[in-house]
Amino acid sequence: MTDILKFVIALAAWLAVQPALAALNVLACEPEWGALVSELAGDKASVYVATSALQDPHRIEARPSLIARARNADLVVCTGAELEVGWLPLLQTQSANPKIQTGQPGYFEAASFVAKLEVPKVLDRAQGDIHPGGNPHIHLNPYNIQKIAVALAERMAQVDAREAAHYQGRARDFLERWRQATARWEKDAAPLKGMAIVVHHKNLTYLNDWLGLRQVGELESRPGLPPTASHLSELLARLGKEPAKAVVRAAYNDPQASEWLSARAKIPTVMLPFTVGGTDRAKDLFGLYDDTLARLLGVNR
Ligand SMILES: [Zn+2]
Repeated sequence: MTDILKFVIALAAWLAVQPALAALNVLACEPEWGALVSELAGDKASVYVATSALQDPHRIEARPSLIARARNADLVVCTGAELEVGWLPLLQTQSANPKIQTGQPGYFEAASFVAKLEVPKVLDRAQGDIHPGGNPHIHLNPYNIQKIAVALAERMAQVDAREAAHYQGRARDFLERWRQATARWEKDAAPLKGMAIVVHHKNLTYLNDWLGLRQVGELESRPGLPPTASHLSELLARLGKEPAKAVVRAAYNDPQASEWLSARAKIPTVMLPFTVGGTDRAKDLFGLYDDTLARLLGVNR
C-alpha cells in the first residue's frame, strides 16, 4: 500500500467519526426551545441550552460561560415576554455579538408569536413579578408550539439560508407528527376538564386554558415570591369550601409548600416535568406532553 493510500484511508476513517459540521450555533434560553430547535434542525445545528428543567427560568445568573456561548451564537431562541428580563439583556450586551441583539434576525422571541393570557390591565409591581406583556409560560399549549415552530423554521431558514429547504422539510414533518399527537392528547385528557388544582406558581395557565383545568389557588402569595405561612393557612381554609383534586408543582419548584398543603388538605401532590428534562419520560417535547397528561390523569380520580 502506498503512503498516499494509507493516508487517504486514515483520513476517511477520521472523517467518519467526526460529527457533521454544524452550520448553525444556537443558544436556547429554556429546554423547550432547545428541543424545538433540534426537531427542526436535526444535525444542522449545534444547540446549547442556558437553563435546565430544575432551574427557575426567571432567576438565572448571566455567568461568564453563558456569555461566551452568547458570543458565538448565530441564533438565540428565548421565550421573551420578560421571562428572562433578569439575565438575557446582560447576555446580549456582554456578549457584544451584533447578530443576537433584539430586533436582529439572530434573536428569536417565541412569545411574540402567540396570544398571551393574563395581560395585566394595570401594572403594579407591588403585586409581585407581574409581566406587562402577559403570562410568559406559553409552552404547555400545543397550538402555541405549532405557531412557534412555523415561525422558528422560517427564522432558521433566514439566518442559515443554505439549509432553508432542510429546515422547512423538517418543520413539515414535525408539524404533522405534532398535529396527530395533539389530537391524541386532547382525547386522552378529556377527563381533566374541570379538574380543580392548586398550582405552586402561575406557570400552568396555558395548559389549564387548553384542557379546561380549574386553578383554584396558588402556593405563592404573589407571583415569584416564596409561599408564606399565613398565605398557606388561608389557602387551606379556602380549600375546605372549594376543594381541589391536587397540588401541582413544576420539577424546579421547592416541594416543601406543596407537601405541607397536601398533608393538611389530604389531596395528592403532582410534580410535572414542566419542560424537557424535568422527568425521565420528558426527553423531548412529545414526551413532555405525554408525561404531563399521564401524571395529571393519575391523580384525577
Ligand atoms: Zn412566572
